[in-house]
Amino acid sequence: MSYENFKTDTDANGIALITWDMPDRSMNVFTAEVMDEIDRIVDAVAADEAVKGAIITSGKRGSFTGGADLKMLSGMFERFEAKKRDNPDAAIEELFEAAGRMSWLWRKLETCGKPLVAAINGTCMGGGFELALACHGRVAAEDAKMGLPEVKVGIFPGAGGTQRVPRLTDTQSALQMLLKGSTLTAAKAKGMKLIDQVVPQDQLVDAAKAMLKAGLSPVKPWDEKGFKLPSGPVYSVQGAQVWPAVASLYRKETNDNYPGARAIVKCVYEGLLVPMDTALRIEQRYFTEVLQTTEAAMMIRSLFVSMQELNKGARRPKNVPVTELKKVGIVGAGFMGAGIAFVSAQAGLEVVLIDRDQAAADKGKAHSNTLLEKAVSQGRSTKEQAEAVLGRITATPDYDALKDADLVIEAVFEDRDVKAEVTKQVAAVLRKDAIYASNTSTIPITSLAEAFEDPARFIGVHFFSPVDRMMLTEVILGKQTGDKALAVALDFVRAIKKTPIVVNDTRGFFANRCVLRYMSEAYDMLVEGVPPAMIENAAKFAGMPVGPLALNDETAVDLSLKIMKATIRDMGEDSVDPRHFKLVEQMNADGRLGRKAGKGFYDYPAKPAKKALWPGLKQMFEQQPADSIDFEELKQRFLVTMALEAARTMEEGVVTDPREADVGSILGFGFAPYTGGTISYIDGMGTKAFVALCEKLAAKHGERFEPTPLLKDMAAKGETFYRRFAPGGSQARAA
Ligand code: NAD
Repeated sequence: MSYENFKTDTDANGIALITWDMPDRSMNVFTAEVMDEIDRIVDAVAADEAVKGAIITSGKRGSFTGGADLKMLSGMFERFEAKKRDNPDAAIEELFEAAGRMSWLWRKLETCGKPLVAAINGTCMGGGFELALACHGRVAAEDAKMGLPEVKVGIFPGAGGTQRVPRLTDTQSALQMLLKGSTLTAAKAKGMKLIDQVVPQDQLVDAAKAMLKAGLSPVKPWDEKGFKLPSGPVYSVQGAQVWPAVASLYRKETNDNYPGARAIVKCVYEGLLVPMDTALRIEQRYFTEVLQTTEAAMMIRSLFVSMQELNKGARRPKNVPVTELKKVGIVGAGFMGAGIAFVSAQAGLEVVLIDRDQAAADKGKAHSNTLLEKAVSQGRSTKEQAEAVLGRITATPDYDALKDADLVIEAVFEDRDVKAEVTKQVAAVLRKDAIYASNTSTIPITSLAEAFEDPARFIGVHFFSPVDRMMLTEVILGKQTGDKALAVALDFVRAIKKTPIVVNDTRGFFANRCVLRYMSEAYDMLVEGVPPAMIENAAKFAGMPVGPLALNDETAVDLSLKIMKATIRDMGEDSVDPRHFKLVEQMNADGRLGRKAGKGFYDYPAKPAKKALWPGLKQMFEQQPADSIDFEELKQRFLVTMALEAARTMEEGVVTDPREADVGSILGFGFAPYTGGTISYIDGMGTKAFVALCEKLAAKHGERFEPTPLLKDMAAKGETFYRRFAPGGSQARAA
């Protein structure tokens, strides 16, 4: 029998080697055709007397599978939405079948009567790992990585993952892995008993064959009589130790915002009480339910589909050939420059790191050394790899070293005159086709470009701190920035494996505008007398990773004062609330500048003591009794104020694509990921409901919550941002 996506070859011992190798694709993914072929392969293996057992592996170097195909997933949603309008019952029935397709196929494979071994040669995620778990044996190459990351995109492993993992490993480890969606090394997976053997890559298939020859049972332990769960039944002494803690752990980690995570806990708990077939049916029911939630739809769209599209260069001008960047220059080896140098060298680029003198440049390079030493000590990198990365960074005060750079990124002090001087010095040596980028966080790119002879080659590339951990970069177009500069900037961002959003020039660009609203809302709550702990908790319950006061301490309270003063200077007295100004000025006068000063909105005692909210904050404002405060409304205020600012950036044409506002808000400032981002938060509840919410908040808390004209128009027409700003949508046409 022949297959499009698989090669099969049966040896003299009756062992069939099934190699998954999709033509014209760099990675194997699950498509409807792949599923059909696996179905036929399982039938063939079961029916063929000559086949005693089978091995499933992949023909792609270093990768077994990346998981589901985007088209398959979005196709399923589209069919469901289309059918739901005419015949809701039939639509749900169809979704239920589609949601269970993979699960029942893996179950068929598991019970086909012949033993199968998964030979995991590399990255094996999602449905691929669930396929491996359904096999009767699993061998992994030493450098293979595996996991069930579904919860991170709002769903959960619905093809048996929630049932087989806790039948192979103890309940607590299983729940932790499923709820975090963590990626496991082969060794870690073996430690958890999810993998039977770990071998060098070139011995993978031999080891799988040996496993079959040794007489691997085609019946899974849980299909045998008397099967015992690794950490005992749910209703047992051991179970009584695990389960009561699970609910509180789940709430602490998720604040009950993620239906996918909630379903994992239910699936494991209920599934472990019943035999496998019933357990899979329970999982299928929850999976169907979760697929219909707004959270799943929004998270899949932003964190899976849009993120991949942006990473692949959705905004890159098609007319410019891809630049293979070799050398980048970074001027300013301070906090940010040092981080940009590290991620660039890590990506294999030659880096020239410049500062005012050799000592300052060396200090910047030393930052890479610190990060690399940590990576080596944690086993994330070898000594040789670390040395190679460091070897690519040349630290020097000599601008001449920039003459053959393809791209120079300026990261000197946030001072227009200093930047202009540096720009001139770089321009004097820079190649005439190289691109110049500024990492400024506040100064408009268009005005900085005036110091450069050719503004078409001038662009903004705005990083977030800490650079090595934050995945977003904002690429900012000045009025005269050309296509080549944009293309090179995006090629650079792609090389360093970060996600770009492209925005037009404005004060604060996109992310910082929204973040400032977040902190400003917290100032409002403080002056109203909301207890500080309640402010921080409301933000976290709303889904923010860090409370606004803690965040303000990280970014520094003196910076807040500087920003306020600059805003007043440029936009007038009324642009900053005097009560906010007084609060921040007082904090500065008391030396409470944030974490770096050991005190800010929090106190930071010496370790191991933990930071705690500064008690003096409560003395600054008369406190409202906690039970008189509407906690839900505090949560709404945080999300609405940021979403509203994002909507303004779209209305002003700063951000032109809702995907960028969504992905940018989650990666840039952790905007409640379950919403799918600032714009999906609005679209998810509907513009009409959002406008009503804004109006309610505006009536109570002031005009900062007034819905914008665009929002009102969209609400009246029942439009979403994704429709209005789609290519060909009315707003896109107007732009
Ligand atoms: P920093 O003070 O840590 O570093 C600035 C570096 O520039 C210093 O090492 C300084 O010696 C060097 N420098 C100053 N004048 C120079 C000159 N003429 N020639 C060469 N080097 C010179 O500041 P930072 O926090 O790294 O910020 C740098 C830039 O990045 C600023 O524009 C800032 O707004 C922006 N930015 C900062 C952050 C952040 O979180 N700190 C985030 C995004 C963007």
